[in-house]
Amino acid sequence: MCPPIDRLGETAQNAAQSAAKHASECLPSELLKYVRENDYYALNIAISDGIREMLGVPGTGRRIRKALPYLSVGQAQMIAHSGMARAMEEATFHKLLRRGIKLKQVIIGPNACPICRANHEQGPVPVAQPFRSGHLHGPFCLGCCCAISAARTPS
Ligand SMILES: [Zn+2]
Repeated sequence: MCPPIDRLGETAQNAAQSAAKHASECLPSELLKYVRENDYYALNIAISDGIREMLGVPGTGRRIRKALPYLSVGQAQMIAHSGMARAMEEATFHKLLRRGIKLKQVIIGPNACPICRANHEQGPVPVAQPFRSGHLHGPFCLGCCCAISAARTPS
């Protein structure tokens, strides 16, 4: 028997596992305030499933609203975005550490905010060192579309 084909990368698998445990507690307070305390577990599972099933922000938002129907579409999508970004960035950070990568950098999105741009402008920094914003990895702001990646020594 052949093992089932694994289409989900290692980083996403790790992200899904960590989201299942603590996606809610990692949400910024601006978003967590929309979630009833009894629903943290259901929210963790919805975000984890969204990563595992590669549903993207709209699909994960729908999954969240199925479990927490009192959320608006916009709230659910912001929570989906933030929860997935956080879990993926955390998993990427641990991958860099595990692989013994020396330097990391911030890749910024098109309309990056000043916080994210300042982190990006730092260039390569040691993996275990926080960026200027104080974060070890993204998301660096609400709705952050930035990501960390391995970096080479500037030559
Ligand atoms: Zn950002």
